[in-house]
Amino acid sequence: MDFARARRDLVDRLIESGHVERPATERAMRTVPRHEFVPAERREAAYRDRPLPIGEGQTISAPHMVATMTDLLAPDEGDRILEIGTGCGYHAAVTSEAVGSGTVYSVEVEPDLARQASERLDRLGYDVRVRVGDGFAGWPAHAPYDGAYLTCAPQSVPDAVVEQVRPGGRIVAPVGRGRQRLVRLTRRADGRVDRETHGAVRFVPMRESSG
Ligand code: SAH
Repeated sequence: MDFARARRDLVDRLIESGHVERPATERAMRTVPRHEFVPAERREAAYRDRPLPIGEGQTISAPHMVATMTDLLAPDEGDRILEIGTGCGYHAAVTSEAVGSGTVYSVEVEPDLARQASERLDRLGYDVRVRVGDGFAGWPAHAPYDGAYLTCAPQSVPDAVVEQVRPGGRIVAPVGRGRQRLVRLTRRADGRVDRETHGAVRFVPMRESSG
């Protein structure tokens, strides 16, 4: 299968349908080899616009969702971004491309997924640091971040994650149980948080292991 061609066609369609707006998002979507992130038996489906199983009962988000979240996060070159829910590492790789010389810090609760994603991201040359941990605590050691996003759905965005983003920074997350919405929070300089609600989405629930 010609993966490069399939990827080009996919991104062309995402642009036509309005799912990719920012040039950095387009560049990232055109570059990251999604087929390297899905299980071998799913490779042929890697450039269809749909979620795919990645093991441990988890799924890699559909390409249009990764693109939409990257547009909403709107990271700049050089940014340091916090991700909660590494999964297979695909979304982190897209963010890594979008921040260029910046760094992505990613927290994953499932040790096997964290290890595999970390090895894969290293092999592919992405500057993504992966840590096994509970995303409800964020990753305080590297705060403040320029932005953050979640790829699993809590009932509301964890306070720790909001607090670890600098004033002016954004947080993109699916929130809710059952009925989920994509939200974007913006931390203002005066300490208040602006909230916008975007479309209905479906993500795996954020695991509340250690509460
Ligand atoms: N962005 C990923 C998709 C991940 S699916 C990708 O591109 O593949 C959501 C991930 O969130 C799963 O890997 C799941 O294990 C993880 N997760 C669920 N609850 C979590 C928590 N409390 N802290 C950190 N990660 C969590």
